[in-house]
Amino acid sequence: MKLVVASNNPGKLREFGELLAPLGWEALAQKELGVAECAEPHCTFVENALEKARHASRSTGLPALADDSGLCVRALGGAPGVYSARYAGEPKSDERNNQQLIADLVDHADRRAHYVCVLVFVRHANDPQPIIAEGEWHGEIVDQPRGQGGFGYDAFFYLPALNKTAAELDSDEKNRFSHRGLALQDLIKRMPNNR
Ligand code: IMP
Repeated sequence: MKLVVASNNPGKLREFGELLAPLGWEALAQKELGVAECAEPHCTFVENALEKARHASRSTGLPALADDSGLCVRALGGAPGVYSARYAGEPKSDERNNQQLIADLVDHADRRAHYVCVLVFVRHANDPQPIIAEGEWHGEIVDQPRGQGGFGYDAFFYLPALNKTAAELDSDEKNRFSHRGLALQDLIKRMPNNR
């Protein structure tokens, strides 16, 4: 059984493909099937993921899986949230996003933050009951970056229990703890099994 993954990120495509294969799903990239990227106009992760999944399913006639993720900072009312990739404006830049985040937090003692990942699976474009899986990864924003791994806000995302930032974890460790890893584990438990 084939499904389309509504992402063009090669890392995510590989990760989704590997985890879904044992359940009998063949994951195809939306680009391979000629699906155009769709807008993400909403202010919640779940609405954006649903929009992307529906769009990919409508374009291909296949079941579809989409994700949306970002960083939510408690003292900023959940910002940057769905705007995480472009927090400091266009063109998107991790470095400028991090500078913006640290500047916005300068007067805030509360540094609690979490990453969120929402995954949405639709059996068809008008599926009335999408499968929605979610993962959260809690930490604190620090002023000085640490570590070379990861991407985005990882060097500023400190995990007190590990005494490391997310950028100091290797990719196996990150996948075990991360919002995306947890959302995927949740999804896998609830996906229809074709075997
Ligand atoms: P996307 O959903 O993969 O497009 O991620 C949106 C944005 O959220 C990214 O561009 C990053 O700024 C941020 N983000 C999401 N997941 C992570 C992560 O694991 N580490 C660092 N930043 C992340």
